[in-house]
Amino acid sequence: MSPEHLFGIVVILLPVAALSGWYFGRKDARVDLDGGAHVPVMSQDYFKGLNYLLNDCPDKAIEFFIKVLEVESEAVETHLAMGNLFRRRGEVDRAIRIHQDLVARPSLDREQRGLALLELGLDYMRSGLLDRAESLFKELLKMGMYEQQVLRHLVDIYQQERDWDAALEYSRRLERVTGEDMRDVRAHFYCEKAQIFIDDDNLPEAFRWLGKGLKEDRKCVRARLLLADLLNSAGDYKAAIMHLKKIEHQDIDFLPEAIPRLVKSYRELDRMDELSAYLSRLSVLHCGITPVLVLAELTAERAGLDEAKSHIVAELKIRPTIRGIDRLIEYSLASAQGEPRQNLLLLKETTTRLIEDKFSYNCGNCGFTGRSLHWQCPSCKSWNTVKPIHGIEGE
Ligand SMILES: [Zn+2]
Repeated sequence: MSPEHLFGIVVILLPVAALSGWYFGRKDARVDLDGGAHVPVMSQDYFKGLNYLLNDCPDKAIEFFIKVLEVESEAVETHLAMGNLFRRRGEVDRAIRIHQDLVARPSLDREQRGLALLELGLDYMRSGLLDRAESLFKELLKMGMYEQQVLRHLVDIYQQERDWDAALEYSRRLERVTGEDMRDVRAHFYCEKAQIFIDDDNLPEAFRWLGKGLKEDRKCVRARLLLADLLNSAGDYKAAIMHLKKIEHQDIDFLPEAIPRLVKSYRELDRMDELSAYLSRLSVLHCGITPVLVLAELTAERAGLDEAKSHIVAELKIRPTIRGIDRLIEYSLASAQGEPRQNLLLLKETTTRLIEDKFSYNCGNCGFTGRSLHWQCPSCKSWNTVKPIHGIEGE
């Protein structure tokens, strides 16, 4: 056991020592005729337990503390605290043992039993025994205790189990209890459900669930992107464009995700002038380097590199980015000769490496960074918080 762990346990046991003193003082501070004091059984067991902890034998310590509990019901809170400490330290088996022992005691009052059930449920969640945690939390709901906390944990469990129907149902219940708007999160549950049908090639059901997702949250970018993908695959490019263009008004940070899909739709329709006009408008909004780079590509195809370069230079003057500089070097290389060309090649090598090494997405909630887009942050589990990185190293 680490020194800080031991320190934590001892701190938790301090109230117990105080309780022993109280017990000692109130009942047993009688001085015998021979001058000795009675030492109560409870404090003996506690100090034996403490001794085991100090000697790094936590399991033996738990046995002793559980014995104390049989004698002294006021020790329940201390046991709960001790169990929590074990769980926080990752020693979940020990936490489970303490909390299971508490739950099994008929002497516990309703409040104590409710709290012990909640803690045991958290232990089970922590150790991945989700079905056991789920049944304890449902028992608490029946008892009418810890409703908000329990509903939140149940929504969390159903997400982990990828049971999206249950996640939808319990998030609605949670919303009713807390008044917290969870429509944006539920739209993701609908998208998850749709994704299952997409993977099964059941496109009508996928469309149906994406429609429900958008009904839940009109601003759900993920539903728009998935719909655009399905529509592009089905050859309905106009409808795909309609969905993709809405993203600008829903969450402009996600436009870089929409643009490659828009290029595909417009190319299929052979309406690249329209796309150029749209990208020119986006470039003025300075919502990322992606629209500028795509516009430069289209300009290079139609009007040559000098014209394309002017788009990049105009953007770099206002918002310098590594990707913009990299593209400018690429266009400049086409006409460079001799030593300037060698220098540009050296610079290009550096910018390419910088782009390859960087993360493209980060979570606004916990700071997680990654190379691919996650709708639910893998670190803090928040929905909608991972976005493309903007700034000199990103968009
Ligand atoms: Zn996060």
